[in-house]
Amino acid sequence: MLERWRERDVFAESVRRREGAPPFVFYEGPPTANGRPGSHHVLSRVFKDVFPRYQTMRGRLVHRKAGWDCHGLPVELEIERELGISSKADIERYGVAEFNARCRESVLTYVEEWDRLTERIGFWIDTDDAYFTLSNDYMESVWWSLREVWRKGLLTRGQRVVPYCSRCGTALSSHEVALGYRDVVDPSVYVRFPVEGEDDLSLAAWTTTPWTLISNAALAVGPEIDYVEARVDGERLIVAEELAPRVLGEGVEVVRRMTGADLAGLRYEPPFPYIDDYGPRGHTVLEADFVTTSDGTGIVHTAVAFGEDDFRLGERYGLTVQNPVREDGTFDERAGPFAGRWVKDADADIVEALGASGRLLRAESFEHSYPHCWRCGTPLLYYAKTGWYVRTSQVKDAMLAANEGITWHPEHIKHGRFGKWLESNVDWALSRERYWGTPLPVWLCEEGHERCVGSIAELRELAGEVPADLHKPYIDDVAFPCPDCGREMRRTPEVIDAWWDSGSMPFAQWHAPFENEERFRERFPADYICEALDQTRGWFYSLLAVSTLLYGRSSYETVLCLGLILDPEGQKMSKSRGNVVIPWEVIERHGADAFRWYYFTSKHPWDGYRFSLEMVGESVRQFMLQLWNVYGFFVLYANAGDVEVDPDGEPAGDLDRWILSRLAATTETAVERLDDYDTTGAGRAIATFVEDLSNWYVRRSRRRFWDGEPAAFATLHRCLVTVSKLLAPLVPFVSDEIYGNLDGTEPSVHLCDYPVPDLSARDADLERDMQTARDAVELGRAVRAHARVKVRQPLAEAVVVAPGREREAIQRFEAVLREELNVKGVRVVSEAEELGRFELKPNYRALGPRFGKHMPQVAAAVGGLDPQRAARTLRGGGQVGVRVNGGEHSLAPDDVQLVMHPLEGYELERAGTHAVALNLEVDEALLCEGRAREVVHKVQDARKEAGLNVEDRISLRLGGAEELLGCVREHEAYIVGETLALEISYDAGEGARAGEIDGRELLIGVERAA
Ligand SMILES: [Zn+2]
Ligand SMILES: [Zn+2]
Repeated sequence: MLERWRERDVFAESVRRREGAPPFVFYEGPPTANGRPGSHHVLSRVFKDVFPRYQTMRGRLVHRKAGWDCHGLPVELEIERELGISSKADIERYGVAEFNARCRESVLTYVEEWDRLTERIGFWIDTDDAYFTLSNDYMESVWWSLREVWRKGLLTRGQRVVPYCSRCGTALSSHEVALGYRDVVDPSVYVRFPVEGEDDLSLAAWTTTPWTLISNAALAVGPEIDYVEARVDGERLIVAEELAPRVLGEGVEVVRRMTGADLAGLRYEPPFPYIDDYGPRGHTVLEADFVTTSDGTGIVHTAVAFGEDDFRLGERYGLTVQNPVREDGTFDERAGPFAGRWVKDADADIVEALGASGRLLRAESFEHSYPHCWRCGTPLLYYAKTGWYVRTSQVKDAMLAANEGITWHPEHIKHGRFGKWLESNVDWALSRERYWGTPLPVWLCEEGHERCVGSIAELRELAGEVPADLHKPYIDDVAFPCPDCGREMRRTPEVIDAWWDSGSMPFAQWHAPFENEERFRERFPADYICEALDQTRGWFYSLLAVSTLLYGRSSYETVLCLGLILDPEGQKMSKSRGNVVIPWEVIERHGADAFRWYYFTSKHPWDGYRFSLEMVGESVRQFMLQLWNVYGFFVLYANAGDVEVDPDGEPAGDLDRWILSRLAATTETAVERLDDYDTTGAGRAIATFVEDLSNWYVRRSRRRFWDGEPAAFATLHRCLVTVSKLLAPLVPFVSDEIYGNLDGTEPSVHLCDYPVPDLSARDADLERDMQTARDAVELGRAVRAHARVKVRQPLAEAVVVAPGREREAIQRFEAVLREELNVKGVRVVSEAEELGRFELKPNYRALGPRFGKHMPQVAAAVGGLDPQRAARTLRGGGQVGVRVNGGEHSLAPDDVQLVMHPLEGYELERAGTHAVALNLEVDEALLCEGRAREVVHKVQDARKEAGLNVEDRISLRLGGAEELLGCVREHEAYIVGETLALEISYDAGEGARAGEIDGRELLIGVERAA
């Protein structure tokens, strides 16, 4: 099939044919090709495929440009691993040019495998015309976007406390931080801060990062919070009143009360003496608005360089920023004995030193969720750094407004996960002190003048030469005189967050605005994007932020979020657990369509999957095989009878009209569901239809196909061709195979229009009546199953409870019921009572408490009621009266149990208001007829075993028990007709196969008739 698509260029042709049609815009969220694609990639790729295919069939022009995300830390880490190095100093020694060359190579390592998988799962996307975020064209568009932002004053440099990975040596943006929370146990310490000039009086403060105590600059209190000075074991401690019992224990002696404002200005001795110079307000108590009494002591230890609140407090009170931690996360020489140690490793020794100096009040451990580097797993530090920021907080309201216009699947993401994320927006920490990324296009002179360059042409004008490759290190050599002061301008060394690259793809994939500006405008915003749920803080956010900054609106209108793929036990898949399912295995075992079908229909995609090879196999068995069998049946009989199928042939009779009505209804549902991005609803509706087609229409029509009836062939043909089109976006391979063989008007089903529901074919009454009949058949079959009576054994009578409108339905399809249930007659009754007699029993649980020891009399009284009359009253919700111990009592429906005994010889099955009873008494004639049917069954098996074609005529020889042969003779005409025998000879002869029916021997000889 893949070859046929390639040969006929079906994908390109499907797009070509919609030239000029209204576009349906799809954006590909670029994956990184430095790893092999996994099962979760297949998930996103099939969901990226299905709606563009569908919309194309619906008449829209859907371009699908592939893309690759090439930059960023993950790529650098991979190369560091390959080279066996682990720091920025190592990279510098190795050489940035060589390092980046390896990065460039590595991002394309697996592109071929990605392309192969992409094709194999039927994901139609234009990989020949893919965009690469590492290309000069792409980066130039990104430069343009940054210059636009810079012009608006929203790209600024500043010192802030940022989440920082000391291993990778770079800051992370808030959305990256959100990717890496882990539960960890940290020290939790309460520390004394002795008040200067007082004996045994200390402020108590709490921290979970003891290493920051080296840098304690001040203590913060809430001015309106109440504090107490309490006497504990001969010393006095100050804590928030509300927290005193928790910190100091119950019942401590309060010496005095005060507010935070009263404490402000107090001088104290810091826990460590190494750094002293924090300015005039250093090592004093300061008022702050971020102090709470939810945990700790209500007095907050402040280290200016290591917390956002701390940093802001420092700015407010003019505290000097002292940062004794190097960029690699180790203390510098200012930290005394701790110099040279990685800060988190020093925690334990710092706590010990506090104990030794008498400053430690209490040490515990504290389990909490703490952010780690999402790539390398190192705990992040909050760390004061100078960096470049995009002031997204300035456009927060615009982003929130833009989010209102986005349709989310599932809907709760909009105001939940995503909306809340936007509400808490902080400025985007854009710069990375790394190597492999789009260089930040800002040049600086010594005077502090800034120039953001927005294009290659502009840079050429300023600097003359521009390197052929815009990456580091070449771009760093480009310098030019400052237009303002004439001094040399050099580029700030950072690269940018790769998420800005991917957020820029709407315009950068076209190299807009330098080229294709019109094409970009036509294809902006996207109608549809789709990625995993975790992209709410990744690509979904970066797309929205970039487009809001540039265009004041969202760059996508509908977004579908995909859940996680877990193993069958609900565990995340990982190499170390050994539970990873490799996509190729699934495809080789079950085929790409089965893989797709499983993802599309087993559940809502955002709910996540518990995934295994076997589960995909289940979806094959349930649906694909059934479809394939119906199709195979059609082909077999059409070929066997050499039938000239008239695709426009008219239906004949209820069964044809019923299935065509169901087809119209299914089409309507499929269109409605797929319009709403719901493959689950669409797929399930189609599956139900195929089941109807297989288990009812085809089964009920076998005889007609056998007889070559044109209406039956025309109807089934129409159903299968329409189903192939309905299924085309979901299972593109099977559907094209069926379409190609049965219709083939177009070179591929994917060039057809999606079916439009034929409303004139709908007949709701017929569908309802047929359903009533099918329900009755199902109940009747359940009776047989319970009573262990084979369907081939004819029975005398079925009694069906069918009130009102249902009675008509049963009568309309009486012949069908007779045949399906293999009964001689069908009787319709309107009330279940007619199917048996009721017995009344007292409900002891209800009546016991009421009558106590008089229960035996109550039971007797209930037994004395006319059961049929009482049952009717109680079932109607009425009450019946009984006399107990001379008193009148009334019993409600709950007081009495109604047990129904079917009529003698009948068995009953009921579901809700429906009930069917079968007469199970088998007389001699019925028994004989049943045996004749068994013989037919055995002969059919023998035909198959002899390798005969369905249309072959046979000569049939039978021998064995006379009891069986007698029945055969009695029903000879029937047997001859069913088995296509020219005649029956009652002499099995040589080579007959032996079998048995009801323990009686039957010998069968079958030969193709001459
Ligand atoms: Zn890291
Ligand atoms: Zn200057």
